[in-house]
Amino acid sequence: MSRRIQLAGRPVGEVKESDFELVETEVGEPGDGEFVCEVTHISIDPAMRGWMNAGRSYIEPVEVGDVMRALTLGRVVDSRHDKFAEGDIVVGTFGVREHAISDGKGVNKITPPEGVSLTAHLGILGMTGFTAYFGLLDVGRVQEGDTVLVSGAAGAVGTAVGQIAKIKGARAVGIAGGPEKCRMLVEELGFDAAVDYKSGDLRGQLRQATPDHVDVFFDNVGGEVLDHALTRLARGARVVICGAVSQYNNTTPVSGPSNYMMLLVARATMSGFVVFDYADRYAEAIADLSRWLAEGRLHSVEDTVRGDIESFPEMLARLFSGRNTGKLVLELDR
Ligand code: NAP
Repeated sequence: MSRRIQLAGRPVGEVKESDFELVETEVGEPGDGEFVCEVTHISIDPAMRGWMNAGRSYIEPVEVGDVMRALTLGRVVDSRHDKFAEGDIVVGTFGVREHAISDGKGVNKITPPEGVSLTAHLGILGMTGFTAYFGLLDVGRVQEGDTVLVSGAAGAVGTAVGQIAKIKGARAVGIAGGPEKCRMLVEELGFDAAVDYKSGDLRGQLRQATPDHVDVFFDNVGGEVLDHALTRLARGARVVICGAVSQYNNTTPVSGPSNYMMLLVARATMSGFVVFDYADRYAEAIADLSRWLAEGRLHSVEDTVRGDIESFPEMLARLFSGRNTGKLVLELDR
């Protein structure tokens, strides 16, 4: 038997356990050209909250009654597919479930480089790393000597953005919640400064931390944080809209930044992007990110929590209250 988490209804505001349903079914037999994957790790992403909403987005919503969409790592346990053999470790969008039957489309076999954890393939060597890499280098067009400001800096994408900024010779400033996260950014990851948005006077703290203004603002958070950051733009700055985690649980429409006229003053641009649009360049990102990891210039910051599949709603809620540092992954108990 195998358990999975299905969407029971569209959430209003913060996700609740009752938005999901635990369903038990038989694993089933793979057909010709299929294999059975035992899911070992589930990536927990803020985007999941958006996928639960109806309406136009960059991807189809998860329908009520469907298995909750999730990026996952797993092991092939039975195969009638000529490219996947028993024992292969794979990454794919299998969803929040213990087992999946797959025809291999969109699934990749992985062999982690020496010294790199398996779970890095859900983080720094996966979607998280690609988002930081293309968002900063392609959309943000970071240059040596730039000041890069990143919000959600102690999270999965944020920790990668700040470190890549440093590798590219930029000054990295992070915005994160709480003194411990700010300490980690500076002392462990080499950020030049970190600002605690929970400790008040964010605008004043930003003024102090960015005396030469900001050339690239990589925004993961939106809302007030975005609004304050806009007051610090340097001439020709690039504002990269990666996400807006502070807004995903809103029950009223998201309000735009009131300081947007700073874009005019600074002759700045603000661009959104979706990492999936870079799919044909992922290999380029993997090559650079793996090399930087091997050279010890980039650290994979991971927050792997063991639990069973029922803990998924609570794990997702962690992202919206800052109870994660780096890439949050649910490792399934067996
Ligand atoms: P994450 O940053 O690891 O986790 C979310 C973090 O957001 C929390 O740890 C928390 O940190 C912060 N946060 C939560 N509520 C907040 C609030 N109200 N105000 C300020 N900060 C808040 O998640 P991630 O996976 O790296 O994702 C980061 C962002 O990238 C998200 O917006 C996500 O949607 C986006 N994303 C975009 C793409 C794309 O293609 N555009 C791809 C992947 C991810 P604190 O303790 O600091 O509050």
